Amino acid sequence: MSAVDAAATAEGGRDFIRDIIAGDLAAGRAREVVTRFPPEPNGYLHIGHAKAICLNFGVAAEFGGRCHLRFDDTNPTREEQEYIDAIEDDVRWLGFDWGTHLHHASDYFEQLYDWAEHLIGNGHAYVDDTPPAELRAMRGTLTEPGHNSPYRDRSPAENLDLFRRMRAGEFPNGARVLRAKIDMAAGNMNLRDPVLYRILHASHPRTGTKWCIYPTYDFAHGQSDAIEGVTHSICTLEFEDHRPLYDWLIEHLPVPARPRQYEMARLNLTYTVLSKRFLTRLVQEGHVAGWDDPRMPTLAGLRRRGVPPEAIREFVRRVGVARANSLVDVAMFDNAVREVLNRAAPRRMAVLRPLKLVIENYPEGQSEELEAINNPEDPNAGTRRIPFGRELYIERDDFLEDPPKNFYRLAPGREVRLRYAYFVTCDRVVKNADGEIVELRCTYDPATRGGNAPDGRKVRGTIHWVAAASAVPAEIRLYHPLFTRPDPGADGDFMDDLNPDSLEILSGALVEPGLVGANEPAPVQFERQGYFCRDPDSAPGRLVFNRTIGLRDSWAKPRARSADG
Ligand code: ATP
Ligand code: MG
Repeated sequence: MSAVDAAATAEGGRDFIRDIIAGDLAAGRAREVVTRFPPEPNGYLHIGHAKAICLNFGVAAEFGGRCHLRFDDTNPTREEQEYIDAIEDDVRWLGFDWGTHLHHASDYFEQLYDWAEHLIGNGHAYVDDTPPAELRAMRGTLTEPGHNSPYRDRSPAENLDLFRRMRAGEFPNGARVLRAKIDMAAGNMNLRDPVLYRILHASHPRTGTKWCIYPTYDFAHGQSDAIEGVTHSICTLEFEDHRPLYDWLIEHLPVPARPRQYEMARLNLTYTVLSKRFLTRLVQEGHVAGWDDPRMPTLAGLRRRGVPPEAIREFVRRVGVARANSLVDVAMFDNAVREVLNRAAPRRMAVLRPLKLVIENYPEGQSEELEAINNPEDPNAGTRRIPFGRELYIERDDFLEDPPKNFYRLAPGREVRLRYAYFVTCDRVVKNADGEIVELRCTYDPATRGGNAPDGRKVRGTIHWVAAASAVPAEIRLYHPLFTRPDPGADGDFMDDLNPDSLEILSGALVEPGLVGANEPAPVQFERQGYFCRDPDSAPGRLVFNRTIGLRDSWAKPRARSADG
């Protein structure tokens, strides 16, 4: 399905998941809708998870049901409290509420253990002493059946004894596993006597050292769903082949409910990696400053970059829910961010790469305040006063000594409008010993105050500026894609595709003084530049801004440099 089709489907409020749920309710197969979002706390959430969060919490709300937040904390060697806390913060920030339904697979360890004994008692599970490498070899391949383990026909009594001793800590890691007894010749590899429990002498963030055997994802997941009364267990496509096992376990256990699993496509984005394994490497190997580095596709990174949660929800809505995997253009995400910020962000003036401009006919020592509109998209946002004076700074890019024909900004002899201020004409260029332009000498027309000429004459360019006397220095961080190709890793290690220039720091920027006292970390629009938000690295006397997103689509092929800003 193309992105547009998907958006159309989602706009109609419908996709195959919602159709299934509506059908189940209509036919009485379900009386209520209970979903869950089940992260493993082994990393921070990324924008792919946002798709699963919006879908699970979204359908629960739409159908009057509920959605649980459940930590799939079955592998204590990789899981940490830091991740648990971050995940809760991120889901809340995205705008969702699990109410009293915060759950952990580890809450069910005792019940899961009892069910494992139940399977053993019925001859549906056995303890296998085969070393891990041989276990793998015995599974066979996609084209060859597996082989039965020599331990497969142990009696229930012997299995029970061994399993209890596994729990009691009598054996080292890897010495034994508990396996379901299904079919080593099954076409579906997941049914070839899958492992249900492994020995892991590791401390767990919640259960401490109480356990030294831990259930596998497959054994924990469906049973946790059943315990919680989950009706629709939505996961991503890679679990499709696990569904027969999910169903087998539900059928062979005295569970209190019969949840069903449905699979949807993962979100993949161009120029982005969305796997916690890869993101962990970026953090641990120091390619980014941390999980919340604004270049990261994590929710923490996007938040720090200034992306509003509404924009993420809107993007996810446009992507829609489909059954086939696809790669979404990151430009689609950027557009959602831009649209939300265009409506919401107050406008401010900031000069990223300053060039001094002196108005020779503006009296020395004089200054005034001009009125500027806060947000043309929002009449309620009102206006503010911005200081003006004889010495200003403009953007270096807004002046060319020898402009091409279609450059409408400032140039020698050229008149332009200073936004909200006056028309100015450039009379002279001052250069340093190296021949670099260091200052422009200009004259202004006092009759054009506010930006219009009483004689009706027009100028083609309007440029932004800040007044030298009151401008405040700021550091500006510009973020570029972390990867140099749309499909990082397609030809090998994704690390080889890292963009060495993904962070650009401008240390000499100047911003209008009103931005100093601003208490809000919410993004503002720097006129003609893009959306920026204050970074938490800011401190009294030190302003740091992150560029959330530029004003235009920088992914579109650079247009033949005809268009002018
Ligand atoms: P990763 O590969 O990034 O480690 P995961 O699937 O192992 O992801 P989990 O913490 O197990 O991460 O994921 C929790 C839920 O989020 C699962 O239901 C999973 O299917 C879903 N999810 C993870 N990544 C994506 C994605 N890119 N698009 C949609 N849903 C996703
Ligand atoms: Mg997972």
